[in-house]
Amino acid sequence: MSIRTRFAPSPTGYFHIAGLQKVLYSYALAKKNNGQYIVRIEDTDRNRYVEGTEDVIFESHKLMGIDIDESIHDGGDYGPYRQSDRLDIYKKYAQELVEKDFAYYAFETKEELDEMRKSQMDEGHRPRYNGLYREYDKEEAKKRVEAGEEYVVRLKVPAHREIVVEDMIMGQMKFSTDDLDDYILVKSDGYPTYHLAVVIDDHLMKISHIFRGVEWIATSPIMKLTYEFFGWEMPQIGHVPNILNPNGQGKLSKRNGSVALSEFFEEGYLKEAIINFIILLGWSPSIERVHGEKEREIFSIEEFVDLFETKDLNKSNPKFNREKLLWFNKEYIKNFDTKDLADRLKEWNSRYLKNADIESDDSIEVKLELVKERSQTLKELAESLEFFYNAPNKIEWNIKQLKNVQKNLEDMKAEIKKLIESFDDDSKDWTHEKWEEGMRAIGDRFEAKHGDVFMVLRVAITGEPFSPPLFESLQILGKEEVLKRLS
Ligand code: GLU
Repeated sequence: MSIRTRFAPSPTGYFHIAGLQKVLYSYALAKKNNGQYIVRIEDTDRNRYVEGTEDVIFESHKLMGIDIDESIHDGGDYGPYRQSDRLDIYKKYAQELVEKDFAYYAFETKEELDEMRKSQMDEGHRPRYNGLYREYDKEEAKKRVEAGEEYVVRLKVPAHREIVVEDMIMGQMKFSTDDLDDYILVKSDGYPTYHLAVVIDDHLMKISHIFRGVEWIATSPIMKLTYEFFGWEMPQIGHVPNILNPNGQGKLSKRNGSVALSEFFEEGYLKEAIINFIILLGWSPSIERVHGEKEREIFSIEEFVDLFETKDLNKSNPKFNREKLLWFNKEYIKNFDTKDLADRLKEWNSRYLKNADIESDDSIEVKLELVKERSQTLKELAESLEFFYNAPNKIEWNIKQLKNVQKNLEDMKAEIKKLIESFDDDSKDWTHEKWEEGMRAIGDRFEAKHGDVFMVLRVAITGEPFSPPLFESLQILGKEEVLKRLS
């Protein structure tokens, strides 16, 4: 059997980072087995539909470097891949269920439903559909439908049945049909509900494995029943646990920081770091088995695909530890090939920052060599390059800390200036030895530590008491610029 997985987002506004986990697991399972990864747009809930989200979904895949085999943009043999373009298909299959007596037309009005709900609540029961039209005359129902009356189609859930679902992550789950309503399959607006569409689409698109969020667990028995009624085999299913807020309280939410994938891109996270972080939120690889290693945290997407097995997916709820994500990002930046990092930074800059200095910098790599170890994000990287392009407009340093420097600052500056002027004009002869020697002599003259003398220069060129390696930075700035900043 060929492995076919899908990501089935509803275009309701943005791409939540938790969605990426399902994307990655679906993608990995398919790719590991030479199968296909499909993206299907589930837009049947017209009240929640937000224009433009489809683009965000595909753009995010592109930014993540995740190739889609079949979708509204990639084509495929099992389309259309957008649910609102499949309405005729759903209608046909809903009719089939009605004809086989596994579903029925219902005509209840809003008032009737409200009344039903109210009386059940008054009696202390959980409100549920009372089967008003379950045994309604079929011919009569058909006539009313044909006459254009508003209707819904409901699933005829059998009583007292145990439904068993074997979940790839959660293990065996048992349900009783007595806890299920006669769920609506087709709404009065003619659109199918999730319950109907998901089954038809997964079946017709030959999906073999489904990853979806745990919030859908309760609908699994309905899914199972619907498959049974159609006489189809249900794909394997795995419910991915919710990612919790960093404090472990509640599902990851906007209130605790960014959750939209686009925000992470904007903040300057590398796709490699985001992917690495997200996969490990629910996957503990048995790498010992494969690589003989016990502890390891850095995984490329290729390695992930290669190692992926559903048995390594966890049942427990992971916390969204932002520091950890930052750590991954820093690791990736630090270890990135400088040329590639330069490309990434420029790409990011052209998208978000639009800093003309970075855009036109042909020798950005030499600078990146100096700053890449100290930046956690592309944004920080851009910030730490700033002093190469522009003199600091304020000095963030308290000179009072360095007593002998404060007393003699002007004289000291004059000496440093003289030292710099003694060097070649093209600053090619700026060796560590020459600097050390010159700066030490100045320190000795003013009874200041020679580190303090360096500090004067450091602060003059960057505005801060910390900077990337000083001499290399000075060399990049050049003699003229250094003298200007010093004065
Ligand atoms: N459209 C559903 C959602 O966005 C997908 C659930 C599923 O993967 O089956 O949550």
